Amino acid sequence: ERLYRVKRWGGGYFEIGDNGNLHITPVPGNPEVRIDFHSVIEEMKEEGIQFPVVVRFHDILRSQVAELNTTFRSTIEEADYQGRYLGVYPVKVNQMREVVEEIVDAGRQFDYGLEAGSKAELLTVLAFQTSDEALTILNGYKDEEFMRLALLGRKLGRKIIVVVEKYSELLSLVRIAKELDIDPIIGLRSKMTVKGRGKWESSGGDRAKFGLTIAEIINAARYLEEQGLAHTLQLLHFHIGSQLTDIRSVKDAVAEGARIYAELRKMGVDLRYVDVGGGLGIDYDGTQSTSESSRNYNMKEYVADVVYGMKEVCDLEEVPHPNLVTESGRAITAHHSCVITQIVGEIKNSQIKFDTAAAEDEHVMVSNMRDLFETLETSDNMQEIFNDASQWKEQAMDAFKLRVVSLQELAKIETLYWQIMSRLHQKLKEAEFVPEELQELEYHLSSQYLCNFSVFQSAADTWAIDQVLPVVPITRMNEKPSVKCSLVDITCDSDGKIDQFVGEHGVQDVLPMHPIKAGEDYFIGLFLTGAYQDVMGDMHNLFGRLNEVHIFSDDDDPEDFYIEEVVTGSSVSNVLSIMQYNPSAMAQDVKRIIDKHVAAGSIKPREGVKWTDFYEDCLHGYTYLKTR
Ligand code: PLP
Repeated sequence: ERLYRVKRWGGGYFEIGDNGNLHITPVPGNPEVRIDFHSVIEEMKEEGIQFPVVVRFHDILRSQVAELNTTFRSTIEEADYQGRYLGVYPVKVNQMREVVEEIVDAGRQFDYGLEAGSKAELLTVLAFQTSDEALTILNGYKDEEFMRLALLGRKLGRKIIVVVEKYSELLSLVRIAKELDIDPIIGLRSKMTVKGRGKWESSGGDRAKFGLTIAEIINAARYLEEQGLAHTLQLLHFHIGSQLTDIRSVKDAVAEGARIYAELRKMGVDLRYVDVGGGLGIDYDGTQSTSESSRNYNMKEYVADVVYGMKEVCDLEEVPHPNLVTESGRAITAHHSCVITQIVGEIKNSQIKFDTAAAEDEHVMVSNMRDLFETLETSDNMQEIFNDASQWKEQAMDAFKLRVVSLQELAKIETLYWQIMSRLHQKLKEAEFVPEELQELEYHLSSQYLCNFSVFQSAADTWAIDQVLPVVPITRMNEKPSVKCSLVDITCDSDGKIDQFVGEHGVQDVLPMHPIKAGEDYFIGLFLTGAYQDVMGDMHNLFGRLNEVHIFSDDDDPEDFYIEEVVTGSSVSNVLSIMQYNPSAMAQDVKRIIDKHVAAGSIKPREGVKWTDFYEDCLHGYTYLKTR
């Protein structure tokens, strides 16, 4: 636990069992329900599902929906707040059908709605049946078709609110609504002066991409009144960024938003809803701090600040309490899915074996490096040895390019260099003071575990914005991990790596892992991937979408589970088709080429058939490494 901080980032859903395996407790109110992740993997293996796999726990999704809604309800009651909570789930955070279906189903009893930010998302949410009271909120830039679709929603009885992001949208919405004779429900997004803290802080401030200035908001209210549509303006919206790391920005935004709401009410605008957007953060790195992958508050505090913050201003200004809307996405989905994959190899420069024995007439650079290794035992000046070894290794490479040292000699110099670094590292463990440059030795000497997955497909934010995601081995956590490593993926891209981990000392560049045993699988999980990561990935190197399994806990046996659904990931032919190839034509072309070789006698006919079948099998196969 100390090494992997599972309880800190796990949100109550994950823990290390006595057997050293990761366990899932998908129903927080019922700790009896606990699933051993190792058994899930065994079952997947039995079913012949290839790794890497996305594992979804739908119970976790349901539980997060319930937690957000019940927290709002109880806080509203406790505060004697007069409005309701009518939250919406922003589908952009994870648009997968099964995810949205589960959220809609779990949210129906709370009148929990949906949010869409594009035409495709709007078409998606219109097809879901939320409860009659639930809201559907439309953000993002909109064309005429978008507006017409929104009005179709109104015609079908949905409480669909078009949030105006820029002034011209209001003019076209009013024109189309009049043309179709359908009353819209309108929201105005306010450009906030409060800026969130964190990676998405540019969502607020004067240069924010979305929203109306205060002057535009007043003009919009006047314009709607002139048009006889004052009653359609019902919602004030703001969003100061995702993953808000500091609760102070939430308080500030609510205070600013509440003041704008109160003033508009006093101007006679009959607003009924205030939508505070998304931003409720996740403690990815388990530090519970204002670091970019964490936050210094929890859901309860967030909700209390929204409810009490709004109430305070409204009471002071003597205006009614509005219904409260949030668009939390990350907080609903992050925990419910993870990526499970295997370590398929280890890369470690310092372990390469090569005979460094002295040879006759060897270059002096080799003997210097050997002498340095020997003085290491008696010298106290570690920094000097480190400097010399590093400089000589560089010089040796230059000398090699100038044909002064041979390939054999270069190999000896490199091997001696890594031996020196390993020994230095050992000696430094006992030292009282470690110079700054030498502190990085651990990272340079650490292994790289090769994982069967693509960072670009499964953990895009770790590459794009240095998002920290928890990684843990699924088994052996009761065994002391003796290997410090970073992770590299199987793409042909040196950016395809993870070297920021949740660990004992906060965020660290290496992760303690166990040595790989021959003939034994070593599975690791990349957690909290349910928000954004699940759907933002790309097909770099043509690694496609992952196989997916959906796990439910078994009502009859708290330690049992069942795989409710298996969704097959992309085959090679799927990804090739997206890239405009025709896989069947490709198979025919390759067959034709093989046939030519058969005709020429360079391939035997029987062998030709085998190669043709093999090519076709691979075309229909999984895009990741086949490990069984
Ligand atoms: N609403 C809007 C307008 C957003 O732009 C976003 C994401 O940035 C969200 C909601 C979801 O935010 P989060 O995932 O932080 O809850």
